[in-house]
Amino acid sequence: MNIHEYQAKEIFSAFDIPVPRGRVTLTADQVERAAKMMGGHCVIKAQIYAGGRGKAGGVQVVHHPEQAHEAAKEMFGKRLITPQTGPEGLKVRRILVEEAVGIAREFYLSITLDRATSRYCLIASADGGVDIEETAVKHPEKILKLTIDPFTGLRSHQARRIALGLGLKGSLCEDCVQLILNLYRMLLEKDCSLVEINPLVVTKAGWLLAMDGKINFDDNALFRHWEYHDLQDYSQMDPLEINAGKFDLSYIKLTGNIGCMVNGAGLAMATLDVLKENGGEPANFLDVGGGATREKVAEAFKIILQDRDVRGVFVNIFGGIMRCDVIAQGIIEAAAEFHCTLPIMVRMDGSQVEEGKQLLLESGLNVRCVDTLGDGAAGIVKMLAQAEA
Ligand code: GDP
Ligand code: MN
Repeated sequence: MNIHEYQAKEIFSAFDIPVPRGRVTLTADQVERAAKMMGGHCVIKAQIYAGGRGKAGGVQVVHHPEQAHEAAKEMFGKRLITPQTGPEGLKVRRILVEEAVGIAREFYLSITLDRATSRYCLIASADGGVDIEETAVKHPEKILKLTIDPFTGLRSHQARRIALGLGLKGSLCEDCVQLILNLYRMLLEKDCSLVEINPLVVTKAGWLLAMDGKINFDDNALFRHWEYHDLQDYSQMDPLEINAGKFDLSYIKLTGNIGCMVNGAGLAMATLDVLKENGGEPANFLDVGGGATREKVAEAFKIILQDRDVRGVFVNIFGGIMRCDVIAQGIIEAAAEFHCTLPIMVRMDGSQVEEGKQLLLESGLNVRCVDTLGDGAAGIVKMLAQAEA
């Protein structure tokens, strides 16, 4: 789960990680008043669920309250497109106004889960800021990494090695050690899968300050943080993903044109692989889980049909706990509601499979049923080609 920069910074503050003075706003008038309060010289920052804002015009330094008003008027309601947003961009509805700070140095600092080691990994660089991705590619030697042992946790001597590695000395080095330890404590207490400060700056006046902040919460821990629910900004999320969440379905958007409905994550992976081997490109996958009801299958199928990239649907379901006739009813219900004429390939097996196939074949839909995954994948690719021809 994602949150905005201003929310991340509120959490930073609660863990004694210093951030610039700031205020979140919803209108250009509020921006102007906030700018006045900061003495006119300030930074206005678009709040969207993506980074790369600086280079896309989403972070602007202004010098008077009127200039802040003008810049904000321009920014509010605009769809900001960055390398992290996708081509449609994300709409700016909130702006963070912060006191402008003279920057002497910009560092990169983050802690995230490393899947290879199954551990948290601290990453730091003395070359932080908006070009960090480029640094990581061109100068990997400038990136410091530290794998954290979950049993001992992060020790202060390890944090000190990082701070020294960033080139910090004396009391500033000690400030950085404390900041890194606070960041780790926050990560654990708040169940984060990622915390990132880029840039972490040393100001001209000689203070460490988290200039930007990004937090991802671990979705598997959301059940023990009811307070996170109110932090979510649904306007920044894909409506289909929100809908899937409501019905407890896992929906993942991909870039192709074949919608995939499956049950179980393992089967989903296998389905995508075999589909690709047959020249198909998945538009998404939707995992309906183990014991789905007819309603849940119908909702899942509707989500797939609402994905504008979908030109055909591949259903690959093993009816173990689920009954194939129930799956068929769900598909038919959803397809009828959306007057679906797209080609549908169904590979089902298991309980009540013959009844399920019968229902589908009598439904009047553009549907074919097969028994194996390979036939299904090859079949939907062919059906799609025929439909486009
Ligand atoms: P991102 O591009 O989405 O990661 O947005 P950031 O919050 O990191 O802002 C981009 C860049 O704007 C930073 O790397 C800084 O160089 C610059 N910046 C942000 N706030 C200030 C500020 O208060 N003063 C100055 N001089 N620069 C700032
Ligand atoms: Mn940043």
